[in-house]
Amino acid sequence: MDTERSRDTTELTREELVRYNRQILLPQVGEDGQRMLKESRVLLVGAGGLGSPVALYLAAAGVGTIGLVDFDAVDLSNLHRQILHGSAGVGSSKIDSARDRIRDINPNVEIEAYETRFESANALEIARGYDLIVDGTDNFATRYLVNDTSVLLGIPNVYGSVYRFEGQASVFGAPNGPCYRCLFREPPPPHLVPSCAEAGVLGVVPGLVGTIQATEAIKQLLGLDDTLVGKLLTIDVMTMAFRTIEIRRDPECPACGTREITELIDYDEFCGAATTGGASASSVREIQPSQLAERLHDGEKLEIIDVREPYEWQIGHIPGARLVPLDRIAAEIPRLDKRKETILYCKVGERSMYAARQLADAGVSEVRNLAGGILRWIDEVDPTMTRY
Ligand SMILES: [Zn+2]
Repeated sequence: MDTERSRDTTELTREELVRYNRQILLPQVGEDGQRMLKESRVLLVGAGGLGSPVALYLAAAGVGTIGLVDFDAVDLSNLHRQILHGSAGVGSSKIDSARDRIRDINPNVEIEAYETRFESANALEIARGYDLIVDGTDNFATRYLVNDTSVLLGIPNVYGSVYRFEGQASVFGAPNGPCYRCLFREPPPPHLVPSCAEAGVLGVVPGLVGTIQATEAIKQLLGLDDTLVGKLLTIDVMTMAFRTIEIRRDPECPACGTREITELIDYDEFCGAATTGGASASSVREIQPSQLAERLHDGEKLEIIDVREPYEWQIGHIPGARLVPLDRIAAEIPRLDKRKETILYCKVGERSMYAARQLADAGVSEVRNLAGGILRWIDEVDPTMTRY
């Protein structure tokens, strides 16, 4: 019976042959590829800004089964970017609105709806049996959950994220490829994360990134080479700079390396968390990029620590600095040369201020934070460096 059914479903009907004609014409797809798409099962976590183009394009492309996880209702303020939903759907559930739209685009698609939060208690159960997860989440808590679920179940995870005019995409958790934790081991401290409502975003940015996720998902399902496995794509629509950075699997990664993460963790919901302050009361003085440049030019011996992530360091760093990512700074304190003045920096000065306060709390007296981070350094000292 099962065999019968699977043979039936892999046949393409005449309607489907016509519908997908322009795609079947591609030698990299063909009828076999189209059948593979029809047999595929993709889980989309989040039917919002990223999830909208993902759902639309995967449905249009003929992915046979799409699982949708979302618990939210459509809000008027969603519509500038969440193009899966329309004005008539405001107030109704995103799942219902998405289902209607997908059915209209392609009635051949099977929709498996999960109108619930994706959380540690249900994530494995929901995701098991899918070929691919697409991460359409907008917060760190769920992003880590999606990553760990993907690694634990061995299902690749097509990642995307957006912030204002910038976006990122990659494919994590593929065989031999890195996972999200290989890049960012732990979620950032809540006070460094802007609340979701506050962080603005240009509507087309999630459209762009979500469309890239849909493309990568289709390539994964078709088994095509040259995907974003082992690469992080960063996009800045203000300059239209698209950059691809090589990323590697970290053997020390607690998810895919040492495998010490054996069960799922619910991180605190960051949205709406306090956005200012932090635990420390220590005040840290700032140093301006021009002052630092002058002192380096004079040959002063300074300890300059870059607290960003390794992939950011690869894009460019201040000469003479060394890399100690934020999550390793506490372990580094005993090794610091206390006689030297220590200057910390990151991208814009927030993470390094957090690190500088930790150093000050630990009794390192001469600590300074580079004002405006490497971005201001680039603007004021070395415009030949790459902005990101
Ligand atoms: Zn990893």
